[in-house]
Amino acid sequence: MTVIALDFETANERRDSACAVGLAWIAGGRVVRRESRLIRPPDLRFSPGNIRVHGILPADVRDKPDFPTVMAEFLPDLASGLILAHNAGFDLGVLRASLAAYGVRPPAFSYLCTVQIARRVFPAEEGCGLGKVAARLGIRFAHHDAGEDAYACAEIALAAVRETGAQDVPALSRTLRLPITTVPAGPDRAPPPQDQPASLTARARVAAGARPTASAGLHFAVRGSSGNRYAVTLEDRSNGPHLRCTCMAGRYGTRCRHVKALLDGDITDLLSSNHADVEVLRVRMTATGVG
Ligand SMILES: [Zn+2]
Repeated sequence: MTVIALDFETANERRDSACAVGLAWIAGGRVVRRESRLIRPPDLRFSPGNIRVHGILPADVRDKPDFPTVMAEFLPDLASGLILAHNAGFDLGVLRASLAAYGVRPPAFSYLCTVQIARRVFPAEEGCGLGKVAARLGIRFAHHDAGEDAYACAEIALAAVRETGAQDVPALSRTLRLPITTVPAGPDRAPPPQDQPASLTARARVAAGARPTASAGLHFAVRGSSGNRYAVTLEDRSNGPHLRCTCMAGRYGTRCRHVKALLDGDITDLLSSNHADVEVLRVRMTATGVG
């Protein structure tokens, strides 16, 4: 049975916003293959908190393939093998939610959580976070890089195998009486966005409504390449909603890069703190079919 450690980084609080994946294959008591890929999330809305953790910016993933494209290479191994993840509920949640978001029915997956393995084999008062356990075991890695995190996760499982004298990782599960969890295939469709703040969902829904005044008056402050500050304003015109920017290109009526970035959900140069309004804007423009 293929044993693969898996780690995702996400762009924001949504489970279907994976922006990086790391994998580490185990065979014969050691890590035999490591891979990591950047992923373009469904939209380029990155939460500052997530960026602080993994350092991945919208510009890093703008031209990368989407989730199903990246994962196609790895899904057969993941579906037929045993997945290891540190806090596996999160990574399996990302895997399934992201496939479903693209209309791909998730296959059944079997997994073991290395947090639970570490709690049984390497307990300590400081807890069993990935960085803490790796430090206790002398595993050297760069935390919060998906490929490195997957590698550390695999090494923790291997250390537990050696510590307990189990023959391999599946045998470790029996030794520790820690059963392998299997999540069945499906569902076919994306679950409702329940991990999205209710207020944002409600605002986005209102903005997507038929009334053209619902989101008129959205204002954004953005930083230009020269450091200048520009204002982007959503206006309702007779021919539909229009985004006006105060930069030179915008004043000449051209679709400038500031407007483009906001429509992409890219908040890299957003100076105003109304990040949620970027999603409102996106939903509104999508709903009216004006790009
Ligand atoms: Zn502009």
